[in-house]
Amino acid sequence: MPVTVIPISIDKFVASYMKNNPKEHRQGIIINLKAAVAAKHEGACCSQCGQPIWAIGTAIAGWNACFTCLTGEADDSEDYEIEQVC
Ligand SMILES: [Zn+2]
Repeated sequence: MPVTVIPISIDKFVASYMKNNPKEHRQGIIINLKAAVAAKHEGACCSQCGQPIWAIGTAIAGWNACFTCLTGEADDSEDYEIEQVC
């Protein structure tokens, strides 16, 4: 299955996320993202289906989640992922 994941830095993602979610705690999101990136490096899997986690989604949702389980979409083409774990 061809997957097009667009790499994005934590800084850039947080900047755009905060624009859409101004009430969120910036520092908390950064901490969650770094934790999710570290977890993915260690091979963390989606707690529902066992696929590799989607670091951004995991950081936002707060549980080990892959793109499909989090969004309900069939494929994860053209979505963002933190560049360190692309
Ligand atoms: Zn899943």
